[in-house]
Formats: sequence, C-alpha cells, structure tokens
Amino acid sequence: MLQDARTVSVPLRATRRLANWLVISGLIVALGTLLVGAAVLSDARRDAWLRAEQASMNLAMALERDITRSLAAYDLSLQGAAVAMEQPDLSASSPEIRQMALFDRAASARQFGALLVLNAEGKVVASSANPSPEERDLSDRDFFQVHKQQPDRGLYIGRPFVASAAPNDLRVAVSRRLPLNRSLFGGIVVGSLRLTDFQDLFARLDLGAQGAITLFQDDGHILVRRSSAAGESNRDLSGADTVRRFMAAPSGSFTGIAALDGVERLYTFRHVGDYPLILSIARSVDDIYAAWWRKTAVIACILLLLCVSMVALCVMFRLEILRRLQAEMTLAETAAKFERLSHLDGLTGLANRAKFDLTLARNWDHAARHRLPLSLVMLDADCFKSYNDRYGHQEGDQVLRAVGRCIQAAATRPEDTGARYGGEEFAILLPGTGTSGAFLVAEKIRASVASTAMPHACNPSGQVTISAGVAVIWPDRLTPPGQLVAMADQALYAAKHAGRNRVEVGLSAGASGSGRLAA
Ligand code: GH3
Ligand code: MG
Ligand code: MG
Repeated sequence: MLQDARTVSVPLRATRRLANWLVISGLIVALGTLLVGAAVLSDARRDAWLRAEQASMNLAMALERDITRSLAAYDLSLQGAAVAMEQPDLSASSPEIRQMALFDRAASARQFGALLVLNAEGKVVASSANPSPEERDLSDRDFFQVHKQQPDRGLYIGRPFVASAAPNDLRVAVSRRLPLNRSLFGGIVVGSLRLTDFQDLFARLDLGAQGAITLFQDDGHILVRRSSAAGESNRDLSGADTVRRFMAAPSGSFTGIAALDGVERLYTFRHVGDYPLILSIARSVDDIYAAWWRKTAVIACILLLLCVSMVALCVMFRLEILRRLQAEMTLAETAAKFERLSHLDGLTGLANRAKFDLTLARNWDHAARHRLPLSLVMLDADCFKSYNDRYGHQEGDQVLRAVGRCIQAAATRPEDTGARYGGEEFAILLPGTGTSGAFLVAEKIRASVASTAMPHACNPSGQVTISAGVAVIWPDRLTPPGQLVAMADQALYAAKHAGRNRVEVGLSAGASGSGRLAA
C-alpha cells in the first residue's frame, strides 16, 4: 500500500537526523583517529629523542673509559721514568742500562711517541728511542715552561702539533715534572700521544651525517674532532655557549647550536677522568628525527586518506539516504494525488461514479449497523440535449460545472457526498438524513441553479433548470444499495413527468421495500 505524504514526513525528519548524526559520528571517529595517530607519533618522537640521548650517554661513557685507560697507561710510563731518574746509581750506568731502567715497554707502543727526559735547563738527557740522544734544547716548549713555573702541575697535556716526520701525524705532548714529589725543579719527562688514533676511532662511530665527537682541553681548545677539518685542532672555542656549558659541569646533555657550523645538536659531554679533557658527543637534531619524520609522513598520509575517505563515505551515504527518502516522499505524494484524482470527476470536481459507488456501499453498511436513514438525491439537467445542440458542448460543460458548484454549496456536511453519476446526471448521498432534510438539500440545489439564470431557449422556463428525485431508506445487509438508486431514479422520473424544474420525493422505505414516511 502506498504511504501518505504526511506519514512520510515523520520518518523523513527522523532519517534526516539519523543521516546527520552519521556524518557527525564519521567526523568524530575521523578526528579521534587523527588524535590517536598524533599521540602515537608524538610518543614515537619522544622515544626517538630518548633513545638518541641514551645512546650518546653510553657512547660517551665507553669512550671516556677508553681514553682514560690510554692516558693512565702512558702516565704510568712517565711516572716510571720519573721514579727511575731518582735512582742515585743511574747516572753511573751505561746508556743502554739507563734506557732500559727509565723506559718500560708500554711506552714503546705504537700510539705513543718517544719519551724524552729533559734536565732542569731543558736539555734532552735521555730518550726511549735512542740510548745516546743527540743534544737538543727544548726549554722554550710550553710543556717545559708550564712545569718549571707550576710545581703543583701533575700531568700536563700540551697543544696539538704535527710531527715533523709525518705531516698527517697529529700529536699532543704529555709530560710530568721531575722529581715527582718535591718542589725542587729537576727537569721533566715528556712524551707524545697520536691524536690521529682518536680521529680514526671517532670516525668509525656512526653518529649520522652531521654528528660530531670532539675531545676538548679543559680550557676550551679543541684537541681532536671527528672529521676534523684542517685548522680545527687547537681552535679555541672557550667563548662558545656550548663549550662554556661543558666546562661548567662534570657531565650532562643539552640541545644547542654549534659554534663551528651553526647546526642544532643534542650535546652529551663528560670530563675525562681526572685529566684536563672534556669529551663531547653531538648528534644533529635533524639526524635524530630523520627516521621518525619518514615514518610520520607515511603514517600521516595513510591516516589522512582513511579519515577523508571515511567522512566522504558518510557524506555520500547521507546524501543517498536523503535522496532515496525524497524520492519515496515524491512517489507517495504522486500516488496520493493520483488516488485523489481517480476519485474525482474531471469536469466538475465532484466525486466520480466509482467513488460514489464506493461511498454508497460504505454508508449502506454503516447505516445498516447503526440503523440510520440514508438519503439520496438524483438530479438531472433539464432538456440538456437541446442545450448542447443549441449552444454547443463547451457551453454545456460550463453548465455542468455550474450545477456542480451549486451541489457543493448545498451539501455542506462532512459526510455528504456530491457526485457526477454520469452525463448530465448527479447524485448526492446524505447519510443520517431523513426525507425532509434530503428534500431541503435538493430544493436548495434546484433554486440555486435557477438563480444562476443561465439562458436556455429550448427550456420552457427559458433558462437552465434541473429536476431532482429524493429517496430515503433504512438499509439492511441483505438488500443491495442499488435499491436506493432505483428509488431516487423513480422520483426523478416523476419530477420530469410533472413538468421538470422541481423536486419529487419518492416513497421512503426499509430495505425490505416496505414504504413509510421519514421525518
Ligand atoms: P431531459 O430533460 O428529459 O433530461 O432531457 P435531456 O435532453 O436532458 O436528456 P437526454 O438524456 O436526452 O440528453 C442528455 C444529454 O446530455 C445528452 C448529451 O448531449 C448531454 N451530455 C451528457 N454528458 C455530457 C457532458 O459531459 N457534457 C455535455 N456538454 N453534455 C453532456
Ligand atoms: Mg437531462
Ligand atoms: Mg439524463
């Protein structure tokens, strides 16, 4: 069965609300997904940072231990030579015996340069490389002057220098004062450390494209730096912010801008044991986040695509729901209109014959159940054939329309039904109405048509008139409704016979056909 347009508007509102909620839910889910994605990615970013920080700290600790061990081994050799120098019989020994007593085998390791003993005037008096060293005066060197002027200075690490024998061999002097524990200055013992070994070690570590490892002296001078460009060694960076922070605490980590290349880096630093050295490990912030950025770009694209698709699907789904609902409503409205039209007479706007038959049957049952009278007025235009002949069918149609309007104006109760019965005949069904009431309605219509004073030359009265027959019945279920029509038709026939332009009332009857008068 087809729905009425009004019954569709309720689900339309509910469904429209549902469709809107669908889109809002889609948006909320999409937003939630994006937020969760953002939280996970931000967590991953923090993790990347913490991992880098931890790795730098571990590396700094391992390197510090390595450097400390190397220096301690070399310092032991220096101290061994210093202690040996204090032996009273040593000067009387042969140069070979002296050399063996002064310098142990550790001092001849590859990463260490030759050890020299200088007397209080700065003259070389012993060398680990040669039992009878050539005479040299090194009193002008920084390590000699430092020990001469600072009796309390323990191990001294000098400025980097390039060994005269090999231009790529970057070294640093390491020295101690003689004798070790007295204020009297008796000279120094000095050796050199190969810094290129540290450079090689640093270069083997993977710290990203812009990572840096630097060994500083505690006054801010670069001792050795990973991938040191020429001239970087011995460079004084004590004025740089980062280096000042290295000098201020024994260890730590922070983010800062490098003084040398302006790159932002995560710095992790440690002072190397008790030595005047600081080790710094720096990883560029861009390198730390590089992998995270790659992952984030892929995940963000996928998430965005998913969310946009979800919202788009919800919007499309909503539009489809509304479109279908709208189509359903239009269909229901059209069906309702067709149903209305299928019950109407196109010319007069009254009910048509089919509707009249339906209404008669329904009212017949209702009147039978409630024992109520049912009245019918059958009405016919007088001499209408000759009207058509004289004035034409178009004009005839206008007359039929006018009669229709008169019927509508007279049968005013909601349950009254005015219908075009066929041709120029009309029927007015009046449920619950007795003879006098039905007569009044019929008479009202007749008078109303007469009062329109439409000229009709072929009608004895000179104008358009109608005749009507009235019948009243108390229906029962055994009698067909057609009986009432027949009775009204008879009354109409009587009115025609009696001269037209009048209303005749037929004999009122129960359905059994027994005639009686109705009030
Ligand atoms: P009477 O007074 O005895 O009723 O005579 P009459 O001429 O009205 O009756 P008759 O049955 O001979 O003619 C009816 C005419 O009604 C015939 C037809 O031309 C006309 N008619 C029927 N339907 C229509 C219609 O829809 N439009 C028009 N213009 N005329 C119609
Ligand atoms: Mg007629
Ligand atoms: Mg007729």
